[in-house]
Amino acid sequence: MPAAPRRPPPIPAPRRAPPRRRRWAWLGVLIGLLATLAIGAYVGLVVVRRVETGRWEMPDPADVVTIVRPAKPRGPSRVIFLEGAPVTLSPGDDDASRGLSSVLRANHPDGPVTLPGWKGSKASWKKLVTCVRKLFAPFDVEVTDQRPTTDDFILVAVGGKPADIGVEQKRITGLAPFNGGIIPRAVVFGFAGAMSHKVTTTCETIGMEVAHAYGLDHEYLCKDVMTYLAPCGAKSFVDKDVACGEGKKRACEGGAATQNSYRRLLDALGPAPPPPAKPKATTPAKR
Ligand SMILES: [Zn+2]
Repeated sequence: MPAAPRRPPPIPAPRRAPPRRRRWAWLGVLIGLLATLAIGAYVGLVVVRRVETGRWEMPDPADVVTIVRPAKPRGPSRVIFLEGAPVTLSPGDDDASRGLSSVLRANHPDGPVTLPGWKGSKASWKKLVTCVRKLFAPFDVEVTDQRPTTDDFILVAVGGKPADIGVEQKRITGLAPFNGGIIPRAVVFGFAGAMSHKVTTTCETIGMEVAHAYGLDHEYLCKDVMTYLAPCGAKSFVDKDVACGEGKKRACEGGAATQNSYRRLLDALGPAPPPPAKPKATTPAKR
């Protein structure tokens, strides 16, 4: 969600003796008018700056960094690349193949950072990849831990802690850019170091961050990947219309009363293609 624009500094009241009540009334009107104009000008400036430059809003208190939607939206990236090796990222418009990250620009605009990568075991890394693959299995998207040869993919930087990119809130376990629409070639973060490299927690965090990059909001449903509620069993993208929200229900980004995470991803990506037909078992000819 965009942060509310800051109020302009209060206009100092003019130092003048109060001669009459009527003059005070006029003064009040004048001050009110000036304040309104100042706020209007400020909001206008913020909007123009955002539209022109596509710069970031302040990071949401949640795990998303709100960005402006591009005028010409592109299709979704259909490869989710889990990067478990140390990775160097630079602030910029999201471009996974070039290591440019808008989340980084919002939190660490001064320059590149190198994240340490996955520090869990190799066996748990395999489980992690399998787990993320399972979350996105219903949809037409590939999950891989091999660097794609094309430049159109979502990069998940797995490992490290929020402080590595200048985020001080320790409770944050992942971060993603978000504007309620599809952000192609996004760079998202799964801070495995903040989750003791636990497979399920890291997997579900990655699921949430990637889905933010596909436009999904938080849902008020404890079984959904998109929830902040206390877990109530295994999570998935649930085919159910539910209210959005973190600690309490609210309208969804864009104004809809509900979101269905499963349908949203299906709309964005389409269904997974059916598995290739198995060749028919040939019965050996009897002699
Ligand atoms: Zn989230």
